[in-house]
Amino acid sequence: MQKIIIIKYGELTTKKDNIGLFLSVLKTNLENVLKNEDVNITFDKGRMFIEPNKDNYEKILDKVKKVFGIHEINIAYKIDNDYEILKEELIKLVKDKEFKTFKVETKRSNKKFFKNSMEISKELGAVVLTNLENKKVLVNNPDLLINVEIRLDAFYIYFDKIAGSGGYPVGTLGKGLLMLSGGIDSPVAGYLACKRGVKLEALYFESPPHTSLEAKNKVKKLAEILSEYNGNIKLHVINFTEIQEAIYKNIPNEYLITIMRRMMYRIGELISKHNRCKIIINGESIGQVASQTLTSMNAINSVVSIPVIRPVACFDKLEIIDIANKINTFETSILPYEDCCTIFVPKHPVINPQVDKCIEYEKLIPYEELIRKAIKNQEIININSDSNQEFNELL
Ligand code: ATP
Ligand code: MG
Repeated sequence: MQKIIIIKYGELTTKKDNIGLFLSVLKTNLENVLKNEDVNITFDKGRMFIEPNKDNYEKILDKVKKVFGIHEINIAYKIDNDYEILKEELIKLVKDKEFKTFKVETKRSNKKFFKNSMEISKELGAVVLTNLENKKVLVNNPDLLINVEIRLDAFYIYFDKIAGSGGYPVGTLGKGLLMLSGGIDSPVAGYLACKRGVKLEALYFESPPHTSLEAKNKVKKLAEILSEYNGNIKLHVINFTEIQEAIYKNIPNEYLITIMRRMMYRIGELISKHNRCKIIINGESIGQVASQTLTSMNAINSVVSIPVIRPVACFDKLEIIDIANKINTFETSILPYEDCCTIFVPKHPVINPQVDKCIEYEKLIPYEELIRKAIKNQEIININSDSNQEFNELL
C-alpha cells in the first residue's frame, strides 16, 4: 500500500474554460517548490497526486501548504483496484486507530464501478463493524471519518483533511510589481496579491547613506519569505538619494512626502512597463498616515495610468499584523532599520494636497532626468526561498 498526497483544487474548478492552463501552472509551481524532494506529480481534472519516493511527507506538506490554488490536501493510501483488497487494507489501516464512532464516506469517480457510493460506504462500514469490537456508526461528528475514493486507476483511503492556502496558482493572472518597503504592510499586500494568482516582482527604494545596508537586507529577507509563496522574485533596487535630496532642497516642506511618493509611482510605472507587470501593488491603507488620506491618494495616484492595487487598503493595522504573523513576515518587519520614507519627514505633512500645486512644485526639479538615471542605475537581485540562510546571517 503506497502513501501519497492528494491535492484538491476548490475555487479553480469554477474556471471551466481555462482549467487546463490553471492546472498546468499549478503543477509547474508544485514542481518548483518540490524540486529538491524527489517526487512524481500527476493530475487529472479533479485531483493532483504527489508520490514521494522517500519518507519526506512532513517536508513536502510544509511546502505544499504554501502553494496557492489548492483547496484541500490529504495524505492517502493508494490501493490496487480490487474490491476485496480494499476491504483487507481498510481493516489494517483502522485497527490501531483510537476511535469509538466512525463513518465511511465514498466518492466514486469511476462511474463504471459495479457498486455505487452508498453501497460501498455501507459495505465497508459493515466490514469495520464485523472485524473490530465496540465500534459504532455515527453520521454526525464521528471520531473517525474514513474517506474512500473509487477512481479508475486505483482506490484511495484517507482520514485527515488538511486545508490548503486557497486562491489561484501564482502566475495565472500575470505579473504585478510590489512596492516593497521594510514595513509591516507591503509584504502582507504582496502576499494577498500573490494569493489571487499574481506573480510578484518587487521594487525597493533606498537612500544611501541615509538608509543602511541593514535596511536593504531586511527587504531582501522579506522578499525571500514572500518567495516561498511566489517562487523566485526579481527585486529592483532603486537608488532614490538624488531624487530625495532634490525634493528636500527645493520643495516646500509640507509637500515633501506627496512629491516623493509621486516620484515613486512614476518609477513604479516605468519599471512595470519594462517588465510586463500589469499592475502596481502597495501596502497603503486608508487613513493610516497623511499620504494615505483619500485626497492624498488621489494626488499621488494621478501621475500614473497603470492600475494600483492596495490589498490592505481597508484593513485595520491589527488585521494586517495578524496576517503578517501568519505568513511569518512580522518579526522581520519590526526590525528597527530606517526606511527612505522615514528620513526627511516633515513635521506637518499636507493632508489634502492639491494636484496643481504638486505640478508647480515639481517644475523646480529636473525629475524626468533624475528618474531616467535612477532606473538606468537600478540594481537587480534575484531572490529565491533557498537564500534564507544567507540573509539570516546578514541581519
Ligand atoms: P509599510 O508598513 O508597508 O512600510 P507604511 O504604513 O509604512 O507601509 P508608507 O511608508 O506611507 O506606509 O508607504 C506606503 C506604501 O508605499 C508601502 O506599503 C509600500 O508599498 C510603499 N513604499 C514605501 N516606502 C517604500 C520603499 N522604500 N520602497 C518601496 N516601496 C515603498
Ligand atoms: Mg513604510
